[in-house]
This record gives sequence, C-alpha cells and structure tokens, in this order.
Amino acid sequence: MYKILVLAGDGVGPEVVREGIRVLKKVAEMAHLVFEFEEAKIGGASIDAYGEPVTNEVLKQAQSSDAVLLGAVGGAKWDGLEHGKRPEQALLKLRSELGLYANLRPALVDPSLVHASTLKPEIIEGVDILVIRELTGGIYFGAPKGIEKNHDGSSRAFNTEVYSTFEVERIARKAFEFARKRKRRVTSVDKANILESSILWRNVVSEIGKRFPDVQLTHMYVDNCAMQLIRNPKQFDVIVTTNLFGDILSDEAAMLTGSIGMLPSASLGDRHALYEPVHGSAPDIAGQNKANPIATISSIAMMLRHTFHLYDLALCVEQAIQLVLKEGFRTADIASANGEIVSTSQMGDLIIERMKH
Ligand code: NAD
Repeated sequence: MYKILVLAGDGVGPEVVREGIRVLKKVAEMAHLVFEFEEAKIGGASIDAYGEPVTNEVLKQAQSSDAVLLGAVGGAKWDGLEHGKRPEQALLKLRSELGLYANLRPALVDPSLVHASTLKPEIIEGVDILVIRELTGGIYFGAPKGIEKNHDGSSRAFNTEVYSTFEVERIARKAFEFARKRKRRVTSVDKANILESSILWRNVVSEIGKRFPDVQLTHMYVDNCAMQLIRNPKQFDVIVTTNLFGDILSDEAAMLTGSIGMLPSASLGDRHALYEPVHGSAPDIAGQNKANPIATISSIAMMLRHTFHLYDLALCVEQAIQLVLKEGFRTADIASANGEIVSTSQMGDLIIERMKH
C-alpha cells in the first residue's frame, strides 16, 4: 500500500489533479495495488483557510507520504500579499523541508505534436531530453543577499551563488544514474570561464563522472547550451546544471515540445519525491474544464517509475497518452486543424480507456 499526499492547490490545479488521481486508481485496479490518497490545501486555498500558504501539519503529512502530487498554486486574489506570504512560498518550503534537490524536467517531443512547436519539424522530431536542475542551492538560496542603501542614497542589491562539494556530488550522481537508463550521455552546464562556483561545479562533476566510465560526459557553457538547444536539440540526452541556469534552460527545452499543458516534472530527494505539472494555475481557463491534464498525467507516469518502480505501468500510461494524441484528440491548447477538441475530463476518460497492461 502506498500513501500519496494530494495538494491540488488553486486555479486549474484541482481539475488536472482529479484526472491524475483517476489514472492512479486505474493503475491500482490493473496491478492489484492500493493507493491511499490524503488530500490537503496548499497555496491560495491554504491562505484562505489557515492564513498561510502551507501549514506545518501539511509539511508533516508530506514527510510521511510515499509521494506528493501537486497541482498548481497562485492567482490574482493573492497577488497583493507581501512576498513571504504569497502562495508560491509553499513550493519553496516544501522543496527545502523535503530535501528535494533534483528537479527532473523531461522535454520529449510527441510525434503527433511535432507541428505544435515553433521550430522546424526536422529540428525537433525525436527530441528526448532530460534536464536535471539543482533545486535547493545556488543563488536562489545563497547568503549574503539583500538590498542596501549607499551613502549617496542610491541602492545596492546582491545575491550569492554558492555551491558546496556535497551539493554538486549528489546532483551529479543523479544525472549519471539517469543517463545510465537512457542514452548514456551527460552534458554538464556551467559558466566555468567566469564563475568560481562553476569551476568547483565542473571539477566535482568530472570527479563523479570517473565513477561512471560507461557514461559520456561533456561540459558546456550556459550561453552555448542556450544556443545549442535551439540549433540542434537532438545532441542532448541528460543535461545537469545549477538552480539558476536550470530554471532558464528547462523552460527553453520545454518549449521545444509545444504547449506548457504537456510538461511533467519530478522533484526528488534522497527520501522524498514530489510530482507536478510544470504549468501554473492558469486563472484564465480555471473552472472551465478546458485545461490540458496531460502534464499531470505524465507526472503520474514519472511517479510510477521513480517512486514506485512500476516501470511497465509508467509505460502503459505514457503509451495511452501517445495513442490518444495519435488518434487526433486535443485539448484547446494543442488544437490542430483536423483534430477533435475535448475537455479536461474527456481527455482523462480517453487516456484511461486506452490503458492496457
Ligand atoms: P500559467 O502556467 O498558469 O499559464 C500560462 C498560460 O498557459 C495561460 O494562458 C494558461 O491558460 C496556459 N496554460 C497553463 N496550463 C495549462 C494547461 N494545463 N492547459 C492548457 N493551458 C494551460 O502561468 P502564469 O499565467 O504566468 O501564472 C498564473 C499563476 O500561476 C500565477 O499566480 C503564478 O504565480 C502561478 N504559477 C504557479 C506555478 C506552480 O504552481 N508550480 C508555476 C507557474 C506559475
């Protein structure tokens, strides 16, 4: 029996998460497993109910779960709150409390959606990249940071990009381990020609790489990587990089694939894991049964693979998604000239109907 904490959140969060849970229930039925779902509030929903974006109680529930499924947080209603009280703070708190240091963002181009990309089909056909972003270190967390007044009344603002050996070692290890299950190529991205933190990053990744002689390691500067992702994305297998560079590059890689409604993610630590679609709460379409649930359902496939090691079932979910797309069914965000437009719940039905063991 597995315990899953469900944090649906705001906007389209509850709508897409509902479809994710239905897929998990179908998986349970197919494999004679029991998933126990515990539901709790997060983000704006938690602010409205308890006055804070995530409560200690929910953090404890997350710590005692086998996996966390998250929808999305945020919306105009809470935009005016001071920085530390905004819905997005819940995500930072969850990541740091659960020690989720590795963010996995696959960018996989579905053959049926090749034309949804802004790049030429011959460039993106067959793209299958896994971006692994360090998630709990670097400039987003480094100290000192702040905004100070200068003597002349102007201001001075600063952040610190800082990495310790152990932080680079553990993310590098994850990258090599994942590469072993794929095409055995790791590209480590840094700015070692300028930044000391990147010199350490490069040295440590190289050291860890020696323990994985069957995986080919290449180093690349971040500016070049940004360019290569558009020029020839098929050269990449696993990309591993820092928090800041990964934030930007994972979005760039993701957009190769078309719509944000298609993109799953996993955030892993040594003991905990959180799965969520990449997109936000999409307030413009919330409550209309229009959101694409595929990002969430693909995140479920990642959960089956990375937390529960149910590889066949993960594949079964992914194949069902591919089949539905191949048959021409589309939510509005990925609509094509001759495809049929379906709602969030209809897309869920279609995928579940096609799940075969
Ligand atoms: P967004 O991802 O919510 O929406 C961007 C655009 O993509 C919108 O047009 C939206 O309709 C569309 N879109 C998003 N998800 C979709 C889906 N599943 N199906 C179809 N279309 C989809 O980003 P935003 O508009 O910048 O942010 C809205 C709110 O979400 C903000 O409050 C922001 O802070 C929050 N946000 C939360 C997360 C998260 O919870 N992880 C991530 C990003 C943004």
